[in-house]
Amino acid sequence: ENKTPVLQLKDVQIAYGQIQAVKGIDLELHSGELVCLIGANGAGKTTTLNAISGTLPIKSGDLLMNGSSIAAMPAHLRLRQGLALVPEGRGIFTRLTVEENLRMGAYIRNDKEGIEADLERVYTMLPRVKERLAQVAGTLSGGEQQMVAIGRALLSRPKLLLLDEPSMGLAPLVVEKIFEVIQTVVQEGMTILLVEQNANLALEFASRGYVMDGGRITIAGSGQELLNDPKVRSAYLGEE
Ligand code: ATP
Repeated sequence: ENKTPVLQLKDVQIAYGQIQAVKGIDLELHSGELVCLIGANGAGKTTTLNAISGTLPIKSGDLLMNGSSIAAMPAHLRLRQGLALVPEGRGIFTRLTVEENLRMGAYIRNDKEGIEADLERVYTMLPRVKERLAQVAGTLSGGEQQMVAIGRALLSRPKLLLLDEPSMGLAPLVVEKIFEVIQTVVQEGMTILLVEQNANLALEFASRGYVMDGGRITIAGSGQELLNDPKVRSAYLGEE
């Protein structure tokens, strides 16, 4: 690969006061890739996504988008550059309706026709969401809320989408639906960094994966390589 990566982390360290949560990681995403980040609880995955989206500062190292440093750029400007995060726990507006939530995703845009077209696209991908447009989002099921959160992120028409454990706590059929949407948008050319506890499923879909442990990246490789790696299998795929 000699093309400029869409996203590049160079020796990134992130700390909460005295607590060093991420201890110098390198990570790269190329255009159109679905890359997953797996690892045990507390490994630093959410911390990493939050630093990329700009809700947490990095302590040292650099963060580049399309070759330019965004390390000092505020989160709302990163969003305008095409970087969207669907946070752990979804972060939807529980008192707003489904439609209002989706439209909030487009607040940085003023291309009316494009917004309507993208809404239609989300309705096609997620018919369940379309059926519930007028419902207050806080009363949706967990799976429906996750779909709204993803739909809202898509309404910002991101180039790079960060997903933090989208399958958490959801029934298998809903998880399947969410991975179907992820695959669809990747096929359309979006670049995705996916944090998943469900390592088996994530690695099956991902082009590449990184394993994080104790604030460091310990293993990197193609989805298939990681699925076949004995260390990954015993530590993260629930095998002996
Ligand atoms: P999980 O899968 O459990 O969400 P994770 O890999 O996403 O785990 P992080 O949430 O990034 O892990 O946490 C990394 C480390 O940073 C943990 O040791 C955690 O306790 C610590 N940490 C996270 N948030 C804070 C905070 N606000 N203040 C202090 N320490 C924190």
